[in-house]
Amino acid sequence: MTAERDARPDLKGLTLQELERFAELLGEPAYRGRQIAHWIYQRGAAAFAEMTDLPQGFRTRLADAARITTLFPVTSVQADGGDTIKYLFRLADGPTLESVFMRYEDGRRSVCISTQVGCGMGCTFCATGLAGLTRNLTSAEIVDQVIRVQHLTGERVSNVVFMGMGEPLANYGPTLRTIHLLNAPYATEIGMRHLTISTVGMVPQIRRLALEHLQLTLAVSLHAPTDELRDQIVPINRQWPIAELLAACREYVALTNRRISFEYVLMEGINDTTALAATLGGLLADPPGLWHVNLIPWNPVYGLQYRRPAVERVEAFARRLRERGISTTVRLERGVEIDAACGQLRRTHGPEFADTRKRANA
Ligand code: SAH
Ligand code: SF4
Repeated sequence: MTAERDARPDLKGLTLQELERFAELLGEPAYRGRQIAHWIYQRGAAAFAEMTDLPQGFRTRLADAARITTLFPVTSVQADGGDTIKYLFRLADGPTLESVFMRYEDGRRSVCISTQVGCGMGCTFCATGLAGLTRNLTSAEIVDQVIRVQHLTGERVSNVVFMGMGEPLANYGPTLRTIHLLNAPYATEIGMRHLTISTVGMVPQIRRLALEHLQLTLAVSLHAPTDELRDQIVPINRQWPIAELLAACREYVALTNRRISFEYVLMEGINDTTALAATLGGLLADPPGLWHVNLIPWNPVYGLQYRRPAVERVEAFARRLRERGISTTVRLERGVEIDAACGQLRRTHGPEFADTRKRANA
């Protein structure tokens, strides 16, 4: 069967006000929009037939006039005694995407979500980057990852990190709409400070985000302290070099009053020497105390030759940064044995990657 494009508007992804207008367009009172929002965002309804407090006739008209995009769970794998669960979802037009649920001892329940199928940024160490960009996700497809995970686990999600597949700021509109929905009291009601966007460093979009004055948490993937090295492993550095990126980050901090974290994936012999740690410390010394660095030992990816540094090398790198007065953490590893790093479940379980697996196993 050839999949025809569904021309009906998608109600998932609409705000309360938009849903109220939609109800009115169909000749119903505005409060029906609030009922629909409750079913879609809080009850995780996948069909209008489930919305039992709506009149039967209205449900039928809704089904003719609109749709509710819902992700289909293909598979899941668990690690950390069930406290990390990685889900692979299938989209209506066929491709797959992944989301990771993490349960923490302090009570937090976090989901790592994707914003694109694949990614066009081409970072040389990243599984998602290897595959290139297939397409952007819609806000329905982004927000539904959190709704589905809540539904599947039966637990309320307290934190969301945009660190799965894709570059969130390359899919700016749907990402921002999702941020508002996740935060909205009629939807998942997650505190703005508990929402984290990670970006590869798209300078114009960082500036644009600063103007939204949101209290979300911004993480910037730096990975190298010199343009020479960053040009090689993060190709968009050729477009927006480090000095421009840091200038945009300073503006961001000035406008939002929120601190930025820099992510730094450590790869042995590439960017993990203590000399580079010292250079990074120098780069981030001004102004003192403004920046935070999050060190992430590289997670192995099929087909890539990088190596994850030994713990001692990671510690030495962290020590050198701290000596320079830079607040530094080493990211707590979750789900390493199930490839919970970005983009990896799809390569090991996604049907469209069967060829890659065969080659890797050959
Ligand atoms: N595109 C965005 C967000 C998704 S990637 C970004 O690049 O920031 C989220 C984080 O995972 C980034 O810091 C990215 O560099 C890192 N990452 C990618 N591949 C990785 C791997 N194999 N091991 C460890 N971290 C990885
Ligand atoms: Fe894309 Fe981020 Fe992977 Fe780079 S690290 S290829 S920006 S997902």
